[in-house]
Amino acid sequence: MDRIEKGKGPPGLTSLNCYCLFRVRYMLPCKHIFHEHIYESNKLLSSEAWKGFQGMFEESGYEIYEGRESSIEFVETKQQKEAEDRRLTVVELTERIRDKYWRVEELGDTKKTGDFISKLETSLKPIISNN
Ligand SMILES: [Zn+2]
Repeated sequence: MDRIEKGKGPPGLTSLNCYCLFRVRYMLPCKHIFHEHIYESNKLLSSEAWKGFQGMFEESGYEIYEGRESSIEFVETKQQKEAEDRRLTVVELTERIRDKYWRVEELGDTKKTGDFISKLETSLKPIISNN
């Protein structure tokens, strides 16, 4: 549940029609549906809804996934790759900042370290402040 809670803001679903990758691909309730159901006002996962999901597999088992795979795979791969690239860029930037900090810290000059940190804070403020 922790991951759902900390996830991005809820999309405010009013029905089970979420178009995220997980929902489209597996046709099962995704984290957005769970988030809405658990933390927001729309109780999407009624016993009726669950029956629907169960029935989906009772009728045709895993065959419901067949024929869908190839077209979705391509989209997922491209999107995932782009997301991964973005993630790596942020990780790299964070590491370079940390690296730089340790280099300054290791000089043992309290003033220099303090200057570095306040410079860092000033530079990052527009990025990390909530507005
Ligand atoms: Zn979703």
